[in-house]
Amino acid sequence: MNAAKVVEDLKQRFPNEPEYIQAVSQVLPTIEEEYNKHPEFEKANLIERLCIPDRVCEFRITWVDDQGKVQTNMGYRIQHNNAIGPYKGGLRYHKSVNLGILKFLAFEQTFKNSLTTLPMGGAKGGSDFSPRGKSDAEVMRFCQAFMNELYRVIGPDEDVPAGDIGVGGREVGYLFGQYKKLTHQFQGVLTGKGLSFGGSLIRPEATGYGTVYFLTSMLATRGIELKGKKVLISGSGNVAQYAAEKCLQLGAIPMTLSDSDGYIYDPDGIDFDKLAYVKELKNVERGRIKEYAEEYPNAVYHAGERPWHEKADIALPCATQNEINGEQAQALVDNGVIAVAEGANMPSLPEAIKIFQDNKLLYAPGKASNAGGVSVSGLEMSQNSERLSWTAKEVDDYLKRIMNDIHENCVKYGTQADGYINYVKGANVAGFMKVASAMMAQGI
Ligand code: GLU
Repeated sequence: MNAAKVVEDLKQRFPNEPEYIQAVSQVLPTIEEEYNKHPEFEKANLIERLCIPDRVCEFRITWVDDQGKVQTNMGYRIQHNNAIGPYKGGLRYHKSVNLGILKFLAFEQTFKNSLTTLPMGGAKGGSDFSPRGKSDAEVMRFCQAFMNELYRVIGPDEDVPAGDIGVGGREVGYLFGQYKKLTHQFQGVLTGKGLSFGGSLIRPEATGYGTVYFLTSMLATRGIELKGKKVLISGSGNVAQYAAEKCLQLGAIPMTLSDSDGYIYDPDGIDFDKLAYVKELKNVERGRIKEYAEEYPNAVYHAGERPWHEKADIALPCATQNEINGEQAQALVDNGVIAVAEGANMPSLPEAIKIFQDNKLLYAPGKASNAGGVSVSGLEMSQNSERLSWTAKEVDDYLKRIMNDIHENCVKYGTQADGYINYVKGANVAGFMKVASAMMAQGI
């Protein structure tokens, strides 16, 4: 395989999907050497079969808003690869959603799910529907209309969706209810469900907690403790909230949170009480993060900006893709940041990753550090299959073990001759090798 040539070819074939090309171009050069040690991979054209999704489902969603107006949105499910288990990955509702963004997410998901050590293939789906400003009833009708199309291609041993940006417990509940009506079956077909109907304890916390568990393992490689460290966090949704919570539990100090309108910096740190306020603001009132600065006047709100110019020890990007550019990465380095662990998917642009690595920062790509969410989704599937619920401690212990295993795999495959751990390479090679061997064993 010649990575540059494959990327160029995909670019020609899919010219309108820049995020997908970006994700592929970040992975291929890092697995090129390992891939080329196996001539049988090339013979089976494994690389194209791994990069191009197995199947793309695209459909129209028609629903009625509160004014009685008939609305349409686009819906998608990308079934990327099921070599190691049923397709698995979240659904994203956001106005930016398009085929290219979901293809990048599904591609990343395949590697991430492989890293979790659990038997899950990779998928992603969603819609350009924006839940912002919509009533509960509108969200419910939209979810029902979405499921009217999606149910044909999913199933507990076929494809198991979950949440992502814009899809939380409320949406998963409505989707599940409609799936049950359409199929007359009570199945573990979605994860992130409510606790009363087959959900798992610790699933809401899992992505954020897992990111911080991974961070502590990275810091430990240099004998550094998380305790007392100042942490810049972007986002204020599920991932950011529970990353902040775990930081607090381990004695670190979250300094910032953000949303797509701007960020808040709290010089006194965001403590447990303030975090409880944020959870209520975002999850119940569906408010904006600028309200934090009205509630806590010591905090400063920066409209239209991201938190990466603030001084701190650690950065946890937990918002969305491409939220750290080269200039912002340089600011983090100049301000003395020692570690960056991604809670979001692909939040750092390629130029930013290069800066982190050139400066020998501890840098974890999302597919490794945010894999806790889908890992606990996998544990939810196991609990559903055995019709049992595990305790919070059981799930959390399992999550810690998985994050630790992912870290060890990254160290195994990513440690360079100079001792620097290239977590990008480690995660990509470890994730790839498992999928590749399953694909080879299963024939063409
Ligand atoms: N959307 C999450 C992710 O990016 C979770 C997916 C899942 O639980 O299936 O990994």
